[in-house]
Amino acid sequence: MGNPDSIPFLDLVTPHQQLEEELVSAFRKALRTAAFVGGPAVETFESAFAAFCGTRHCVAVNSGTDALRFALIAAGVKSGDVVITVPNTFIATTEAISQAGALPEFVDIDERTYNMDPGKLRQYLESKCRVQAGRLISLRSGRPVTAIVPVHLYGQTADMNAINEAAAKYRLVVIEDACQAHGAEYFSSAAGSIGRAAAFSFYPGKNLGACGEGGAITTNDEELAHVTRMLRDHGQSKKYFHDLEGYNGRLDSIQTAILSIKLDHLGDWNRRRREAAAKYNSLFAAVPDVVTPYEPEYSTAVYHLYVIRVQNRPGLQAHLNETGIGTGIHYPVPLHMQNAYKNLGYQKGDFPITERVANEIVSLPMFPTITAEQQQRVVDAVAAFQGKTRAATVSVRA
Ligand SMILES: *Cc1c(COP(=O)(O)O)cnc(C)c1O
Repeated sequence: MGNPDSIPFLDLVTPHQQLEEELVSAFRKALRTAAFVGGPAVETFESAFAAFCGTRHCVAVNSGTDALRFALIAAGVKSGDVVITVPNTFIATTEAISQAGALPEFVDIDERTYNMDPGKLRQYLESKCRVQAGRLISLRSGRPVTAIVPVHLYGQTADMNAINEAAAKYRLVVIEDACQAHGAEYFSSAAGSIGRAAAFSFYPGKNLGACGEGGAITTNDEELAHVTRMLRDHGQSKKYFHDLEGYNGRLDSIQTAILSIKLDHLGDWNRRRREAAAKYNSLFAAVPDVVTPYEPEYSTAVYHLYVIRVQNRPGLQAHLNETGIGTGIHYPVPLHMQNAYKNLGYQKGDFPITERVANEIVSLPMFPTITAEQQQRVVDAVAAFQGKTRAATVSVRA
């Protein structure tokens, strides 16, 4: 990153420089009171994040992966159950499902939003499952389907009314994977307040990131909140009295103090991400053959990532890298085609939309402090490449 003209994919330094004094004094306070695990800093953050999401409860845990695992277990997902999700997500989604003892099964996504297609979900529940003795059984695995995990990918909520309706019909639990969607809205409900519970990640690169690892469960369900509090703390509700076997899954006090400081800025950072996305959209309107993000009427997205689609993705990515512009691919290999999931028995071709999209997506630089000038340079670089590609294909066709 020696080149001063290079544009990083993500700038995690500037926001922390701006807050450095406050962050350091939070650390100093923890040192001087030896408050490292539990205590008021954790509770203060939990109340503030619950308020931010419009939920009654927030339970801070050590990662988004464990937030999802604990939420699934607390919602009653049992060993041998099936949990339905999408194949175009980070592997943490399905790791949490497997670690809860369940088996992930997939439905394909909507080509415009990249989120779970509620029509395909309904189809799966109706024609790939059967009701037996009041339970919904997956024909694929012969196991009971008990939950759905929609992922709010790139900071945009899935179509939650449609998903919740399908789930209600078969009495399935819906747990939101909101790990990329802090502050996103579905109509006027915040991500994290729409399913039975939700999982957030505070990994440093997320819209709200710790200076380390972190995560949280949000829910309005008192009992679920209670059980997740026990699960994160060795199953105890009182010290050394274990009602169940849990985990070491707490979030430490220094991270929660840091998150409280950063949470005050999240609304502003999300607004800047939205402005940057709108600017990209308008600049890309003049560039041929670039598919820009689509926001349905229900969505107020928070652009954890700004993802475009092009035909020659490897070419474009190489060109941007040469120009000093950071890019990413989220995600290059759909989960059903990962080595880790060979045992699930899916084939290439099973989820055609996910597979096509995975070959065409590129994530461009997106962070709250990105400048208009940087965005212009990104778009100019994409335009230069797309212009060349188009000229080449036109002359081949001619
Ligand atoms: C980041 C992420 C997770 C996992 O969060 P960690 O805090 O890294 O464990 C889960 N799901 C999605 C969609 C994510 O982006």
